[in-house]
Amino acid sequence: MLLSVCVSVCVLALLMSSAVHGAPAKGPCARPRNKLLFISFDGFRWDYDRDVDTPHLDRMAEEGVRAAYVTPPYLTITSPTHFTLLTGRYIENHGVIHNMWFNISTQEKKQYYMTQFVDDYWDNGTLPIWITAQRQGLKAGSLHFPGTAATYQKEEVGVKQVEPFLYDHSNETDWRLNVDRVVGDWFARRDLDLVTLYFGEPDKTGHKYGPDTPERRAMVQTVDRTVGYIRHAIQSHGLTERLNVIITADHGMTTVQRGAGANEIILSKIPGFSFRDIKFHLVDYGPSGMLLPREGMLEKVYSALKGAHPHLHVYKKEDMPERLHYAKHPRILPIILWADPGYVINGLFPVQFNKGEHGFDNEVMDMKPFFRAVGPDFRRGLQVGGFETVHIYPLMCHLLGITPEVNDGSLHVTKHMLLNADDQECQTTDESVHWNLMVGFAAVGGLLLVMFVVMTTWTTCKRRRMESYR
Ligand SMILES: [Zn+2]
Repeated sequence: MLLSVCVSVCVLALLMSSAVHGAPAKGPCARPRNKLLFISFDGFRWDYDRDVDTPHLDRMAEEGVRAAYVTPPYLTITSPTHFTLLTGRYIENHGVIHNMWFNISTQEKKQYYMTQFVDDYWDNGTLPIWITAQRQGLKAGSLHFPGTAATYQKEEVGVKQVEPFLYDHSNETDWRLNVDRVVGDWFARRDLDLVTLYFGEPDKTGHKYGPDTPERRAMVQTVDRTVGYIRHAIQSHGLTERLNVIITADHGMTTVQRGAGANEIILSKIPGFSFRDIKFHLVDYGPSGMLLPREGMLEKVYSALKGAHPHLHVYKKEDMPERLHYAKHPRILPIILWADPGYVINGLFPVQFNKGEHGFDNEVMDMKPFFRAVGPDFRRGLQVGGFETVHIYPLMCHLLGITPEVNDGSLHVTKHMLLNADDQECQTTDESVHWNLMVGFAAVGGLLLVMFVVMTTWTTCKRRRMESYR
């Protein structure tokens, strides 16, 4: 009798255990996991589709989600803001604080392209989504996206294409080859789960001609054609129902004031300021700048610059407005400068001739990019308000069914964009597994208790009957 009870209990426990482990789980979510294509069109301002016909972007909005705008982190320049997209962290927390790598001791500086290959500039404590996805069993790829070339904690994105030096970022034929590679080869043939894809326009055209020009409008039409080409490629490879697509950008663009009345900011012309008091500086880079004064010179430099020009903002690192989240990282220099929209900061004399610029305060509407999303997990025809780009990372992790790293965003900001918005259990899947196990063990425990009582009663009765026969 006892033996048969034990066998029954063991069989029951095994059945319950297999019910938990045999749940339809592809990844931590019970729902099936779809693939994700994350695209950045560099410098695509939130309102660039307002003065141009953009039939493909319009159709994408009808079939998916469109945000009024998104707010990038400060400093609104390419590498720092892209690394926020990849990590969900503000710039002071992820440490990719500028497009340029620099060394304050040797005075060495590397421009944007060469900085892509400096591993320890990117790999300083925060993992991009590719590595996190790979560590959780997914396959990731990246084409031209800032940060692609670097190695993170000895790992790199599994499938990558880094642009060659002097790559022409405006060649539409090349864009289509890149789309064919990503959709046809990486997603369809090699079955990747996540790909980040970068286009260097309309940033380049916005810089060269200015954002409110026929040239920029023509480039936005090229972007729109490319969006149509991407969606057609997805459809022709049978991926429409298995692939989510998010399209956004790193920052916007605004027109630079030119001409005699422009009141340019030239640091060397400011009374009391001298580059002899500066040990290291990053200026002549659009509207932002950073200074490291020589020892004992900080107060002198600060008081010379503060209030010296009506369109120049000057802050000691520790006094930076908290909302900008650009102070805490040790790489940020002790004095930070930024200009009002339309102005750039020149050092010795004007050397900047772009007609459009970015890098301004992220509250300036012209600095805000666009945001579109479409695919099997997104609602159709939904328009949402603006939100910060730090929130895109937890959304991407949720779509991929992976556990995010520590980040500054929240899924709660974007989850209303999703179909089955109540099916938000990816973050708590471990808890639900534990809950199932607890229920299983409680049931088995209860059964054992009942059997113990029955057996004890039966044995007692039998003993008493035996005793009564004596
Ligand atoms: Zn950019």
